[in-house]
Amino acid sequence: MSNTVENAKTNEFIIAKITVVCPMCSNMFATDYIEHMQDLSINSKVEADLHRVIDDKMVRTALLSMCPACLYTWWFSSFKTHYMLPQLVVDAPSISCSKKFAHAILSGRQFNAHALDTAVLALNGWWLARENNEPAKSVWNWLELSIIELEKALADTTINFNKSRYSYILAELLRQSQDFAKALTYFKQVDKRSMLPTQLIDSQFKLAIDKDSTPKFLSPALIEQIFLPKFVNRDYLQKVS
Ligand SMILES: [Zn+2]
Repeated sequence: MSNTVENAKTNEFIIAKITVVCPMCSNMFATDYIEHMQDLSINSKVEADLHRVIDDKMVRTALLSMCPACLYTWWFSSFKTHYMLPQLVVDAPSISCSKKFAHAILSGRQFNAHALDTAVLALNGWWLARENNEPAKSVWNWLELSIIELEKALADTTINFNKSRYSYILAELLRQSQDFAKALTYFKQVDKRSMLPTQLIDSQFKLAIDKDSTPKFLSPALIEQIFLPKFVNRDYLQKVS
């Protein structure tokens, strides 16, 4: 059951408060969460590293919950919700958005999370730092951390995930970090298992050859092909995946 207060409406998202229970210390606390998220559309802002641009920093931050008692921080979706009204329990710590993601990475290391988990957290930290117009050094540090963690995840042979797609994301990060030679190496490893249009891979590959490190947006046509395939394509994708 969801007890929400102080709904804060943004253009596409609604943030609300709810009571959750910490899986580590059983403490109950109130946390922000995304009560409503407008579906992605061809008019959404999506960058070529496949992330949706979110203008309100509170939205991405609400993906995580942080226990005020033991500071365990992880995805909100992994916390059990509780019927207690959020006004009646202690609030999650007030912490800067970027620090919340740093805490989650710390929790991941503490509890031996897979490098892919840590990489996705670092990626979110990087996107947030950019969306939040943080100082260039902070943005750069998050980019470097994302690259290190993604490389670690891709080198791990003990877990299965879409390595082709993540190789593309890593290549795109390396392009933006101006490590063009390495970006080209990873772009070359991207194949049809990435489920990405050849047109996209080729255009980003060419940017790396041209030593262009600027972020790029996906066109509405590419957003549709990647995220909103027509039913006929969706059936096909299910067969080949
Ligand atoms: Zn706790």
